[in-house]
Amino acid sequence: MSAASHEVAMTPIFPGSVDTAGQRATLGVLGGGQLGRMFVHAAQRLGYFTAVLEPDAQSPAGLVSHHHIQTSYDDPAGLAELAQLCQAITTEFENVPAQTLQMLAQTRPVAPSAAVVGIAQNRIEEKAHFAACAEVSGVTCAPYAVIETPAQLQVVQAERADLLPGILKTARMGYDGKGQIRVKSADELAAAWAELGGVACVLEKMLPLTAECSVLVARGWDGQVVSFAPQRNVHEAGILAVTHAYEGAMPAALAERAREAAVAIAQHISYVGVLCVEFFVVEDGSEHGGLVVNEMAPRPHNSGHYTIDACDVSQFDLQVHAMAGLPMPQPRQHSPAIMLNLLGDVWFNADGQPQEPDWYAVLSLPGTHLHLYGKLEARAGRKMGHLTITGPDVAGVKAVAHRAAELLGLPGLDAI
Ligand code: ATP
Ligand code: MG
Repeated sequence: MSAASHEVAMTPIFPGSVDTAGQRATLGVLGGGQLGRMFVHAAQRLGYFTAVLEPDAQSPAGLVSHHHIQTSYDDPAGLAELAQLCQAITTEFENVPAQTLQMLAQTRPVAPSAAVVGIAQNRIEEKAHFAACAEVSGVTCAPYAVIETPAQLQVVQAERADLLPGILKTARMGYDGKGQIRVKSADELAAAWAELGGVACVLEKMLPLTAECSVLVARGWDGQVVSFAPQRNVHEAGILAVTHAYEGAMPAALAERAREAAVAIAQHISYVGVLCVEFFVVEDGSEHGGLVVNEMAPRPHNSGHYTIDACDVSQFDLQVHAMAGLPMPQPRQHSPAIMLNLLGDVWFNADGQPQEPDWYAVLSLPGTHLHLYGKLEARAGRKMGHLTITGPDVAGVKAVAHRAAELLGLPGLDAI
């Protein structure tokens, strides 16, 4: 695998260090969203300076970073400035152009590498990767077919009735359920492909899901791998709504298999940094169902936000450790946790009028940790923040999460 060639000896970048020219140890991140913001917070707490490259003047990460380079992701001058300021660079955003990461990697350690980000950017390559390591990971993805040309569409229409009902997904640029259309017939498939602009897609068989979970793995430059226990995720309208992270959230045997599979998936491409692997649990007649790998995100993930408040080392701390060549401590979860995503909908009442959420009531509940990302405009479906609830026991955490969800008018109350 070519990605393995990116495994290089890495001299640790020590937090708080200053070089002979007086430059402070600085870590850089491409992208200014909430993942970048929480990365910046973790890096700064350790004693690093930070630089964010992001075109938007008011971005969540740009607002809190020491340096904000306000250019596009492929601007040569902006990238040169980032490389000049930083001793190592990461990305919070998987759709960053591959050339950008390649260019930066010529002069600076970049983790994850352009090669592995390239795989995660494209569902077709991602599925090929899952297939290539299925023997070691023990998991396969949902049955699917690639549709890149009208001829392939016709073949799938004629020969792959087994994939219906299915979901047509664009190979690139999908997130939060965007770029996906559910189809029941060959005619609907053709219409959906046209609606998606005839771009490269995969048609995936719709599976009977009993649950979804994800695993966060972190791997250092030296190949040392650590992971968090799998968390169970509940989606609403294709967007993550609730993450359950406590013992018993997933059946133990299934959780162990998911964890082993995620580690194998990261190892196979000599991944450096934090990787999130998402899984489906499907009805297959067995006691707890079968495990199917869905997709991977080459970065910290929304489903791992609870690690900030419930673990001794968070997913963002591990991203810092991995890119800076620091040791990779095995994280320990010290409290059961539930994370509730706060979408822009929370800022509107039932009549669609703007409202301020009742933070006073929410924050009076025990064990609530509010994270707002500093976005000015609340819009339906936009990730504005999250609320993590921790406590000494699962029953208590569930009760508080239920009450908080009720106060905020969040969907999916039944799932808590
Ligand atoms: P993300 O925000 O995680 O990047 P995404 O837009 O890339 O999401 P997917 O993870 O592919 O999209 O799908 C979003 C959700 O749609 C899944 O979490 C799952 O609930 C549902 N889904 C996707 N594919 C299937 C499938 N083959 N069968 C059943 N449900 C599915
Ligand atoms: Mg997903």
